[in-house]
Amino acid sequence: MAAFCKGRYRFRKTVFGHILSRNLAGKYDYDLVVVGGGSGGLACSKEAAQLGKRVAVLDYVEPSPKGTKWGLGGTCVNVGCIPKKLMHQSALLGGAVKDAAKYGWSIPDKVSHDWTSMSSAVQNHVKSLNWGHRVQLQDKKVKYLNLKGRLMDEHTIVGTNRAGKETVLTAENIVIATGGRPKYPAHIPGAMEHGITSDDIFWMNKSPGKTLVVGASYVALECAGFLTGIGLDTTIMVRSIALRGFDQQMAGLVTAHMASHGTQFLWRCIPKKVEKLPSGALQVTWADTNSQCEEQATFDTVLWAVGRAPETRSLNLEGVGVAHNKDTGKIIVTEDEATSVEHIYAIGDIGEGRPELTPTAIKAGRLLARRLAGISSELMNYHNVPTTVFTPLEYGCVGLSEEEAERRHGKDGIEVYHAFYKPLEFTVAERDASQCYIKVVCKRDGDRRILGLHFTGPSAGEVVQGFALGFQCGATYSDLLATVGIHPTCAEELTKLHITKRSGLDATVTGC
Ligand code: FAD
Ligand code: NDP
Repeated sequence: MAAFCKGRYRFRKTVFGHILSRNLAGKYDYDLVVVGGGSGGLACSKEAAQLGKRVAVLDYVEPSPKGTKWGLGGTCVNVGCIPKKLMHQSALLGGAVKDAAKYGWSIPDKVSHDWTSMSSAVQNHVKSLNWGHRVQLQDKKVKYLNLKGRLMDEHTIVGTNRAGKETVLTAENIVIATGGRPKYPAHIPGAMEHGITSDDIFWMNKSPGKTLVVGASYVALECAGFLTGIGLDTTIMVRSIALRGFDQQMAGLVTAHMASHGTQFLWRCIPKKVEKLPSGALQVTWADTNSQCEEQATFDTVLWAVGRAPETRSLNLEGVGVAHNKDTGKIIVTEDEATSVEHIYAIGDIGEGRPELTPTAIKAGRLLARRLAGISSELMNYHNVPTTVFTPLEYGCVGLSEEEAERRHGKDGIEVYHAFYKPLEFTVAERDASQCYIKVVCKRDGDRRILGLHFTGPSAGEVVQGFALGFQCGATYSDLLATVGIHPTCAEELTKLHITKRSGLDATVTGC
């Protein structure tokens, strides 16, 4: 693995007509320049600086088509995980307030939610994180440059500031960590003109009101979940299935729970156009493939959650020969995050085939910095990455879906242990627990190694995070049963699973 070895010395005129130079001492300006100050880029640059390297990180936020912009920290901090989880929490609190009356609290009959108070509190927290990241970079002696980076060759980056002024930086190694941005369905008239995306929703100072969310994956379900939870009239338009790639039984429980708590679903419907009426309302037309009819309804906000596109537009990948997938636009990377051009690496959402998740971007960035510094050869393990969908009833999982396990091992090659359980907290609150479910998919032969673990219920992320350790260590069904539960918790139900799907027995947990 390449360490930060001494640079070559050269002058050369580039296609851009700039004179590029390694400095006269034969060294580069930096050992490492990272383009993109999000989850992966910040982790990589800080780790490299900790290891004594001279590091610069460029971060530049192109405003959304609606003009929304934000500070340092990337998607997760500004328009992703953090504001999403806080708004999810706001929605959960609405449910807790309802429960509270059953637990003896005096709650007024009419409890209301104020979007502006929530969004300004969330935005203030995000701004504090932006500031925290700047301070951390300063403390760790990483040079932060608010510049948009463009590759010029394998050792040279040109950064452009908002006023158009260019700065040339040379580095022994370059890491691209520019993440992605939400897509708009450009073929749908009015989609971009009248719609917003997840880049805007968290920064709206006024309530989005009655909202149509188009899409049915993580972003769509999570946003629709918290919008419904804070009391807004919310509809999800699903063109095919929900949560593609996830266990479909679990996806069904998530959407069933959302529907039972007020989210409306338009299944198998394809958006056609969005028009603004004189009243200011947005009229959406769609094709209902069930009835073969065209339908219309009006909304205050249309939120497109139809996937994300890698942010490679300004990078000049073709100019320097960095190979990327022509269909997805993502950069082709090897297992050590190397691109097709020596000295240029790519981490996080920008890498082809990588999970679009913050912890994988962070870990990949740290490990890459350590390898580049020559102190480790450890590669990022992208297998068995746990994840959680933060819908009001959370869904956490690690490993294979039942469908995928069956595809790989055959129906008779797997054993599925499952349980419908009732969280203790739901009892006094008289909450319906129909969708609280656990499923552990195991290999049927040998030591019944666990292939996939799935959990819907309160704090699913916290529960699955713990069990992911066991999964990583190759846990078997017997290990699960040998684990002593913590009583009374939802997580302990995992240690008590004994009904197999194959048996056809009722999987409802009774007693404690
Ligand atoms: P990013 O964090 O996107 O950072 C890239 C940075 O590079 C940005 O600041 C960008 O402005 C900057 N940039 C782009 N081009 C240039 C350039 N040419 N020059 C300089 N700077 C540039 N993941 C989870 O694990 N858990 C969650 O709960 C979760 N929730 C999410 C919710 C939403 C709504 C969304 C959209 C995503 C969510 N994610 C979640 C995914 C997570 O945010 C991303 O996987 C993660 O941020 C990717 O990190 P990254 O470093 O690859 O890129
Ligand atoms: P995805 O690519 O996962 O899903 C896109 C969704 O939009 C699919 O349901 C797709 O339907 C639908 N869609 C695409 N085009 C259209 C169209 N023209 N009309 C109607 N529907 C359409 O994107 P997301 O933005 O939801 O998520 C991106 C990534 O961000 C995730 O993969 C995840 O890694 C990360 N993320 C993680 C979170 C977490 O960890 N909790 C939360 C949020 C995001 P179809 O299936 O038919 O193609």
